[in-house]
Amino acid sequence: MTQSPGGFAGRVLRVDLSSGKVSREDTAEKYGDVLGGTGIGYRVLFDEVPAGTGPFDPANKLVFATGALAGTGVPCNGRTAVTAVFPTVWPAPLAGSGHMGGQFAAKLKYAGYDALILEGRADKPVWLFIRDGRVELRDASRLWGGGIRRATLEISQEMGPDCVVAAIGQAGERLAPLAIVANSVSHSAGGVGGVMGSKNLKAVGVQGSGSLRIAGPRDEWERLIKHHLSLLGANNQHVVPAFPSPESEYYNPGSRWVGEPGRRWGAADPPVEITGSILDLNRIAYRSNSAAFFLGEQAWRHTVRGNGCTACPIRCHTVVKMPSVAAKYGIKEVGQNTCVGLVFGRAFFRNMPGGNKGLGSLEACMVGMHLADDYGLWCNYGQLQRDFVKLYSDGTLKARLPAKEYASYDWDKYDAGDPAFLFDLIPRLSERQGELGQVMSQGTAGLFRHWGLKEEDWKRDHSTLYWKMGHPKHHANEDDGQCGVLINTQYNRDAQCHSHTNFVRNGLPIEEQKRLAGGIWGSPDSVDAVGDYRPMNVHKARRARWSLVRKELHDSLGLCNWMGPWVASPLKEQGYRGDDSLESKLFSLATGRATSREELDLMGERIFTLHRALTIRDMGTLAMREKHDLTPDWLYEDKHGQQPFTQGTIRMDRADIATALDMFYGVMGWDKASGAPTRETYARLGLDGAASALERLNLLPGDGNEPGK
Ligand code: SF4
Repeated sequence: MTQSPGGFAGRVLRVDLSSGKVSREDTAEKYGDVLGGTGIGYRVLFDEVPAGTGPFDPANKLVFATGALAGTGVPCNGRTAVTAVFPTVWPAPLAGSGHMGGQFAAKLKYAGYDALILEGRADKPVWLFIRDGRVELRDASRLWGGGIRRATLEISQEMGPDCVVAAIGQAGERLAPLAIVANSVSHSAGGVGGVMGSKNLKAVGVQGSGSLRIAGPRDEWERLIKHHLSLLGANNQHVVPAFPSPESEYYNPGSRWVGEPGRRWGAADPPVEITGSILDLNRIAYRSNSAAFFLGEQAWRHTVRGNGCTACPIRCHTVVKMPSVAAKYGIKEVGQNTCVGLVFGRAFFRNMPGGNKGLGSLEACMVGMHLADDYGLWCNYGQLQRDFVKLYSDGTLKARLPAKEYASYDWDKYDAGDPAFLFDLIPRLSERQGELGQVMSQGTAGLFRHWGLKEEDWKRDHSTLYWKMGHPKHHANEDDGQCGVLINTQYNRDAQCHSHTNFVRNGLPIEEQKRLAGGIWGSPDSVDAVGDYRPMNVHKARRARWSLVRKELHDSLGLCNWMGPWVASPLKEQGYRGDDSLESKLFSLATGRATSREELDLMGERIFTLHRALTIRDMGTLAMREKHDLTPDWLYEDKHGQQPFTQGTIRMDRADIATALDMFYGVMGWDKASGAPTRETYARLGLDGAASALERLNLLPGDGNEPGK
């Protein structure tokens, strides 16, 4: 075994659930070229899972992987990528990753492992016990059929309070494609819960008593962490506040920096006054309040505090307390979540009494969080709720469901926006009861597959936000014009990339953004003002490439791509510049392997390209441009008939997007006709093995292999 460098735990744990065999691999030896996280996930799928493997086949593998910076003192480091053949991809399953925060990544590393590879299928329900070197499969029959909370509680009681439990609920057990695995109850990875259920694995409990070595000098490491902290804005790296402040030159009402002096976390005991300076490094969590951003002003009254992932000072996972839901619905008065997890319940409704930011809406959010996090149902970034609203509103549910089943739902409650409706709906969806549960728990793909609804209709309808392959848009043209579009063409699920939006939505005026962009991507024209897009240019293609590369880097280092990269900052005195080399500086000091920004970006590009190679292999075609890198029709329409490239529309132009793809393929070194990486590009990235495998399948461009074959 080679000596592990700093940062890494040094070993990957592999558990065969069919045989119970446990083995360990050397991280550096076997996965050194793909860093960790999604890199290890894609590598395992490419090398070990044959094309055509179904998501719930025992041959599918489930890879929980962190990275070199997880569990260190680096801000925002608590991420775990969970990669598998992903069940919600339409029309056939392909590789995908869910990503969870919380404390799982750090605990896994303190136990001595950078990743956990799960294979096979247990013959009865089990949970996996990991305490440092001790690894056992334990009986989970008493937990099977119960929710995530009970599994977490019982396993915690068995292991002790310093463990972290990642579990599935009933949705995962019933092999619902829309199922999560969640650690610490509410930090979830979407879409992979059913894969875990198919392996008869209820949960993974981890305890680690080890530590990680930081290879670089301690004072340098501490200086670098302070430097990193100084660059942080609010969540999504919004670097100006949402309100005018004497401490800030700029403000932007769209900013997620909503915490300001005079605010209070009203449900803390005693309530916490937010009076610190906006540049106080010890109070960065005061700047962000996800609940207030998503649920409106009144959420402040119900905020207990921010919670979040290991070493994250942003703490975007807001803890909310509402005694009224305990009194009315008998659920816990405290819940916590972030982003779409916060609005899970409310989003099912067409109308809420008091509007979307009223008290009824908050209660629906609490009920939704409570149920979804226990049953382990995934919303596919809100697509489940949008589909539900659409199908109810246009009469499809009434027409498709058996009359008895349709009548069994209390639609009056639904129409009244009564959160009690969710106590019927969410368990039935999660447990796949009736035709509604069977079909909708599969995601949008289920609607096409089982009800024969036409994907074209979803692609035409603005209100669905549907993009392609069973999934919605994720920070696309509405945030970042062609750059957002390119990013949304690249994955088999929603893109989950925030590198681009964390810059263009940072709140700085466009003139400042352009000045910064010129320094980072070579031209001010690499950025447009949101909603005022100009025709495509190659600088935008370079920025799309940078965004994707950094996303994969973060997902492979254990960093939060919801916060980074940190190329802009709140620091006026340094011209709002952040640090484009931050990741490589952190990696170099943690591991002791001096790695430049360019070298680390090359590794990110390798990982991203490996995902591309895997997709080409599993689709069995080179024709990525024609069959994979798709856009919806609604992208090219404006509800008010506004033309592309006029201020105030996010409408794109088909010919311009074709140009954008040409330019993007060009900067990636991919064949323009097919959208597939060339042999030279695989070689440049050290992916000769993948290239050879694809060559044997006639899936390398050139050599007479025509796109569309
Ligand atoms: S910003 Fe939120 S998701 Fe990201 S590391 Fe911090 S708490 Fe976790």
